[in-house]
Amino acid sequence: MAQLMNFAPVVLKNLFSKPVTKNYPAEPAVYPERSRGHVEIDLDTCIMCGLCMRSCPSGSIKVDRPNATWTINRFDCVQCGYCTTVCPKKSLSINPGYQEPGEEKFEASYVKPQTEAPAPAAKPAAPAPAAKPAAAPQADNQ
Ligand code: SF4
Ligand code: SF4
Repeated sequence: MAQLMNFAPVVLKNLFSKPVTKNYPAEPAVYPERSRGHVEIDLDTCIMCGLCMRSCPSGSIKVDRPNATWTINRFDCVQCGYCTTVCPKKSLSINPGYQEPGEEKFEASYVKPQTEAPAPAAKPAAPAPAAKPAAAPQADNQ
Protein backbone atom coordinates (compact mmCIF):
# COMPACT_ATOMS: atom_id res chain seq x y z
CA MET A 1 0.00 0.00 0.00
CA ALA A 2 2.88 2.31 0.79
CA GLN A 3 4.36 1.68 -2.68
CA LEU A 4 1.04 2.55 -4.28
CA MET A 5 1.07 5.84 -2.46
CA ASN A 6 4.54 6.55 -3.87
CA PHE A 7 3.25 6.13 -7.43
CA ALA A 8 0.10 8.15 -6.92
CA PRO A 9 1.63 11.61 -7.61
CA VAL A 10 3.22 10.35 -10.86
CA VAL A 11 0.01 8.73 -12.00
CA LEU A 12 -2.01 11.85 -11.25
CA LYS A 13 0.53 14.07 -13.02
CA ASN A 14 0.51 11.94 -16.18
CA LEU A 15 -3.24 11.73 -16.10
CA PHE A 16 -3.66 15.48 -16.45
CA SER A 17 -0.65 16.38 -18.62
CA LYS A 18 -0.23 16.24 -22.40
CA PRO A 19 1.18 13.03 -23.86
CA VAL A 20 4.91 13.11 -24.55
CA THR A 21 4.45 11.05 -27.72
CA LYS A 22 3.27 12.49 -31.06
CA ASN A 23 0.17 11.38 -32.89
CA TYR A 24 2.19 10.34 -35.96
CA PRO A 25 1.27 9.69 -38.79
CA ALA A 26 -2.12 11.34 -38.16
CA GLU A 27 -0.22 14.58 -37.50
CA PRO A 28 2.65 15.44 -39.87
CA ALA A 29 6.13 15.17 -38.43
CA VAL A 30 8.12 18.34 -37.87
CA TYR A 31 11.70 17.64 -38.88
CA PRO A 32 14.63 19.29 -37.14
CA GLU A 33 16.29 22.02 -39.17
CA ARG A 34 19.41 20.03 -40.13
CA SER A 35 17.82 16.62 -40.52
CA ARG A 36 18.92 14.59 -43.56
CA GLY A 37 15.81 13.47 -45.33
CA HIS A 38 15.89 12.67 -49.01
CA VAL A 39 17.72 13.77 -52.15
CA GLU A 40 15.92 15.99 -54.64
CA ILE A 41 17.04 16.94 -58.12
CA ASP A 42 16.50 20.07 -60.16
CA LEU A 43 16.31 18.64 -63.67
CA ASP A 44 16.34 22.08 -65.23
CA THR A 45 19.97 22.59 -64.24
CA CYS A 46 21.20 18.96 -64.40
CA ILE A 47 23.55 18.34 -67.33
CA MET A 48 23.50 14.50 -67.03
CA CYS A 49 27.25 14.42 -66.43
CA GLY A 50 27.00 11.34 -64.17
CA LEU A 51 29.36 12.61 -61.45
CA CYS A 52 26.75 11.93 -58.76
CA MET A 53 26.37 8.34 -59.99
CA ARG A 54 30.12 7.73 -59.92
CA SER A 55 30.47 9.31 -56.45
CA CYS A 56 27.56 7.68 -54.62
CA PRO A 57 29.00 5.21 -52.06
CA SER A 58 25.89 3.02 -52.04
CA GLY A 59 25.32 2.99 -55.82
CA SER A 60 21.88 4.52 -55.42
CA ILE A 61 21.99 6.80 -58.45
CA LYS A 62 21.87 5.93 -62.14
CA VAL A 63 22.29 8.49 -64.87
CA ASP A 64 21.17 7.48 -68.36
CA ARG A 65 22.48 10.26 -70.51
CA PRO A 66 21.12 9.07 -73.91
CA ASN A 67 17.61 8.88 -72.45
CA ALA A 68 18.07 11.96 -70.23
CA THR A 69 16.96 9.99 -67.17
CA TRP A 70 18.15 10.38 -63.57
CA THR A 71 17.18 7.54 -61.25
CA ILE A 72 17.58 7.05 -57.50
CA ASN A 73 16.89 4.07 -55.30
CA ARG A 74 15.85 5.82 -52.11
CA PHE A 75 15.89 2.56 -50.15
CA ASP A 76 19.63 2.20 -50.77
CA CYS A 77 20.49 5.88 -50.20
CA VAL A 78 22.19 6.47 -46.85
CA GLN A 79 21.66 10.26 -46.92
CA CYS A 80 25.39 10.96 -46.78
CA GLY A 81 24.92 14.04 -48.97
CA TYR A 82 28.07 13.40 -51.00
CA CYS A 83 26.22 13.64 -54.32
CA THR A 84 25.09 17.15 -53.43
CA THR A 85 28.67 18.29 -52.94
CA VAL A 86 30.10 16.82 -56.15
CA CYS A 87 27.37 18.04 -58.50
CA PRO A 88 28.97 20.77 -60.62
CA LYS A 89 25.62 22.46 -61.27
CA LYS A 90 24.31 22.24 -57.67
CA SER A 91 21.27 20.39 -58.99
CA LEU A 92 21.01 18.09 -55.97
CA SER A 93 19.85 18.95 -52.48
CA ILE A 94 18.90 17.09 -49.32
CA ASN A 95 15.52 18.08 -48.00
CA PRO A 96 13.46 17.04 -44.97
CA GLY A 97 11.17 14.03 -45.27
CA TYR A 98 12.00 10.36 -45.48
CA GLN A 99 11.21 7.56 -47.88
CA GLU A 100 8.04 5.87 -46.70
CA PRO A 101 8.44 2.21 -45.82
CA GLY A 102 7.27 -0.28 -48.41
CA GLU A 103 7.13 -3.98 -49.15
CA GLU A 104 9.36 -3.71 -52.21
CA LYS A 105 12.33 -1.58 -53.06
CA PHE A 106 11.71 0.61 -56.05
CA GLU A 107 13.54 3.28 -57.95
CA ALA A 108 12.32 6.77 -58.70
CA SER A 109 13.13 7.98 -62.21
CA TYR A 110 13.07 11.54 -63.42
CA VAL A 111 13.19 12.34 -67.12
CA LYS A 112 14.69 15.63 -68.18
CA PRO A 113 12.32 17.37 -70.55
CA GLN A 114 13.87 17.77 -73.96
CA THR A 115 14.24 21.31 -75.11
CA GLU A 116 13.61 21.93 -78.75
CA ALA A 117 16.73 22.41 -80.81
CA PRO A 118 17.20 26.05 -81.68
CA ALA A 119 16.37 26.92 -85.25
CA PRO A 120 19.46 27.32 -87.41
CA ALA A 121 20.52 30.89 -87.82
CA ALA A 122 19.34 32.45 -91.05
CA LYS A 123 22.08 32.79 -93.62
CA PRO A 124 23.02 36.38 -94.30
CA ALA A 125 21.62 37.56 -97.57
CA ALA A 126 24.13 37.43 -100.40
CA PRO A 127 25.25 40.90 -101.40
CA ALA A 128 23.52 42.17 -104.49
CA PRO A 129 25.80 42.04 -107.54
CA ALA A 130 27.22 45.39 -108.41
CA ALA A 131 25.33 47.07 -111.20
CA LYS A 132 27.23 46.98 -114.47
CA PRO A 133 28.11 50.42 -115.69
CA ALA A 134 25.86 51.47 -118.52
CA ALA A 135 27.43 51.16 -121.95
CA ALA A 136 28.77 54.45 -123.19
CA PRO A 137 26.48 55.93 -125.82
CA GLN A 138 27.85 55.48 -129.30
CA ALA A 139 28.81 58.69 -131.04
CA ASP A 140 26.55 59.51 -133.95
CA ASN A 141 28.84 60.09 -136.99
CA GLN A 142 26.12 61.41 -139.20
S1 SF4 B 1 26.24 15.48 -60.89
FE1 SF4 B 1 24.59 17.00 -61.01
S2 SF4 B 1 24.59 17.67 -63.14
FE2 SF4 B 1 25.74 15.75 -63.07
S3 SF4 B 1 24.20 14.15 -63.48
FE3 SF4 B 1 24.32 14.36 -61.26
S4 SF4 B 1 22.69 15.83 -60.76
FE4 SF4 B 1 23.07 16.02 -62.94
S1 SF4 C 1 23.02 11.07 -50.38
FE1 SF4 C 1 24.81 9.67 -50.47
S2 SF4 C 1 23.92 7.63 -50.64
FE2 SF4 C 1 22.28 9.06 -51.10
S3 SF4 C 1 22.31 9.26 -53.35
FE3 SF4 C 1 23.61 10.91 -52.54
S4 SF4 C 1 25.70 10.07 -52.51
FE4 SF4 C 1 24.27 8.34 -52.73
